[in-house]
Amino acid sequence: MHLKGMPICKGIGLANVLKVETLALDTTMRKITDPGQEIALFRAAVDKTIRQLEAVIDICRQRFTVETTRIFEAHQLIAGDPEAKKAIETVIKEEKVNAAHAVKVVIDRYINTFQDMEDLYFRERAADVRSVSRRLIKNILGVPVIDYTAIRTPVIIVAEDLAPYEIAQVDPAYVKGIATEQGGKTSHSAIIARLMEIPAVFGINGLMRTAKPDQDVIIDGLAGDIIFDADPELKHDYEDKRARFEQEKTALLSVKGEATVSKDGGRFALHANIASPYDLGHVHEHDAEGIGLFRTEFLFLNRTTLPSEDEQYEAYKAVLESMDGKPVVIRTIDIGGDKDIPHLNIALEQNPFLGNRAIRRYGDDPILFKTQLRALLRASVHGNLSIMFPMVATRDEFVQARQWLDTVRQELVDEGVTVSKNIPVGLMIEVPSSALAAASLAKEADFFSIGTNDLIQYTMAADRTSQKLSYLYQPLHPSVLKLIKMVADAANKQGIPVAVCGEAASDEWAGPVMLAFGVRSLSMIPTSILAMRKRLAEMDLSLIKTQQNRLLEADSEKEVKTLLETFYR
Ligand code: PEP
Ligand code: MG
Repeated sequence: MHLKGMPICKGIGLANVLKVETLALDTTMRKITDPGQEIALFRAAVDKTIRQLEAVIDICRQRFTVETTRIFEAHQLIAGDPEAKKAIETVIKEEKVNAAHAVKVVIDRYINTFQDMEDLYFRERAADVRSVSRRLIKNILGVPVIDYTAIRTPVIIVAEDLAPYEIAQVDPAYVKGIATEQGGKTSHSAIIARLMEIPAVFGINGLMRTAKPDQDVIIDGLAGDIIFDADPELKHDYEDKRARFEQEKTALLSVKGEATVSKDGGRFALHANIASPYDLGHVHEHDAEGIGLFRTEFLFLNRTTLPSEDEQYEAYKAVLESMDGKPVVIRTIDIGGDKDIPHLNIALEQNPFLGNRAIRRYGDDPILFKTQLRALLRASVHGNLSIMFPMVATRDEFVQARQWLDTVRQELVDEGVTVSKNIPVGLMIEVPSSALAAASLAKEADFFSIGTNDLIQYTMAADRTSQKLSYLYQPLHPSVLKLIKMVADAANKQGIPVAVCGEAASDEWAGPVMLAFGVRSLSMIPTSILAMRKRLAEMDLSLIKTQQNRLLEADSEKEVKTLLETFYR
């Protein structure tokens, strides 16, 4: 029996099914006589939920990055949300109903609001609210919560859906795979499965109907396949496939500590993208040669107040010191688009990706921007800092932001604060206008970093969060390649460094092509660095250089891929 779903995390697992049945929790309405007692029951359940989540947060702090930990901190915030609490207690008091029912009524209202939203991100956040409310209701009803930390035999978890904190608790030494009927590619459950490197396939139709407890099962997170009761021959094939996959992973360790050099002798740098100082463990483990993109807006998310200047200074200093003189590019905040900061009450827009995003907001909120610049400049003495502005569409925007930076620097100097004398200031090329005007911008900027996620979204006019339009995400489309070539040429002509820090940097073809076009460094999630270093060591980039016009003149991304495959056959 063979089922198919979305591949979420690479790897092959062979084990027995651990079927997690979603128990129907009894939330039927019951009239009660003592609302006080029911409210006490509800409050005790909230406290218990918060304590349980605290234990999950502790596990995360040991195992994961702060980004992951924040997911559960957000869950804790949801569990203790005063507004929801008040609404639930009001329902209990005024309608004289049981706590479990009141929770369901109120939470359903929240979930419906999320689910009706166009944005995939918010629809997937409904899953967070749902998982917190299930835990809360279980605690009200006294239903035991499964202890995932206690799994001590090899299993593949099969479930309707699995909450992020449930995945975070498992030990990957025993849990060989995760298969679910629900789930999205950008859901937090998917992110955690990837961080833990557990083979995972989500969105498998008919999974719960088909799977039987303890049944023999194979999960193929590379292809998105689930196979039940495979015959010995097929099992053998999958064992081979798993061994090959593991060998490839181990082989990557051989390039740890090596320089990044292509087969034809080109010397490049592979840098890491991070979202907070907690990611530094991954950065060192995977041997990044610097930080190419620190997405600082993540310091502002999942909290109810802005981080102070001192708090930001400590975060930037920690990253600079940890990198010990290696380059660190810190990007000033990029909010708007799909990154909202609720407590800033940013006005809703028709087209947030085409709206008041990133550098465009700095003039509206000078204190926010200035505070960040002060923190960055104060931290500059602790390492090799470069500062980068996001979403620049015109030369004037960049010049203006740079002037603000100079003003803030002068203020600090006047206050007697020491600031590094040499801080390169660059910009992200993410808007087609700035790619087209790269020659002019190169005269103003100290470096460029190409943000392909946005550059592709804006070139193709395809919302990067839309699943339906994901086919238009084409890093190798000739129009995208032409823009990248133009930017690399302009930077090299002016003699300024040019990097790529979008997801395409780690793409097996797009990364090397961009280097062949004159980009000097690639910045990516830390776990992709060694694979790219190994790939480059095996690639003669001159094959692309000599044939670059054929790629640029191709009619489609498909043709570009076919050409590349022919060059390297
Ligand atoms: C990009 O747009 O490619 C980029 C790196 O920035 P972000 O993904 O944070 O928008
Ligand atoms: Mg971007």
